[in-house]
Amino acid sequence: MKNELNLDDLKKIIERITETLDENSAYLSELDSFVGDGDHGTTISRGFGEVIKKIKENPLDDISSLLKTVGLTLISSMGGASGPIFGSIFTSMAKTVEGKDKINLKDLNNMFSDALDKVMQIGGAFPGDKTLIDSLNPIVESLKESSSKELSLKDAVSLVEIAALEGAESTKDMIGKKGRSKYLGERSIGYQDAGATTMYLIIKSINDSI
Ligand code: ADP
Ligand code: MG
Repeated sequence: MKNELNLDDLKKIIERITETLDENSAYLSELDSFVGDGDHGTTISRGFGEVIKKIKENPLDDISSLLKTVGLTLISSMGGASGPIFGSIFTSMAKTVEGKDKINLKDLNNMFSDALDKVMQIGGAFPGDKTLIDSLNPIVESLKESSSKELSLKDAVSLVEIAALEGAESTKDMIGKKGRSKYLGERSIGYQDAGATTMYLIIKSINDSI
């Protein structure tokens, strides 16, 4: 097992993310139906479907351009509140890895850390607000710890999957403060956030492909 990801690995990961989100589309929309408007699964699947089309039309030859295309395509095809939020995760990652042709654990840590900052900046949500930040934040914490312990990429990504799942599940006990769930207030307790679940599924797809 190599300790770095290259352009081909990243393309495979994006295909895997698309498949996983497709398989979970009904589940994600169901989660969104409890505290939102029930469209999250369809929206995110459509977004990644467009990403795959774009990549086939225009095969990109560097990691940063690939991530940028993913982000911009999500923004333009998903719309709503979540398009710019999920899109900016990838456009921000594109900036972090500009000029690199391989990604190691430290890069991955920087990518997720910059993405978290960006999401908080554009969406104005904080940890505990019952959004995808509640899985993104533990993902960053886990990567930081693994990076400082110099774990292998494979071990680090397995640990990240656990952290992301715990993070997504932790949203069940939270009261919605941002996005549509805020309209429900305390009645949003008991339901897992759809976007945080998608964030977990993205990490699971990375782990499955590595
Ligand atoms: P919409 O709210 O436009 O219907 P989706 O249903 O596709 O969008 O996505 C909803 C998800 O977006 C929520 O589950 C939450 O995780 C995430 N989200 C919404 N608003 C914010 C925000 N301000 N910051 C971070 N994440 C957010
Ligand atoms: Mg929705």
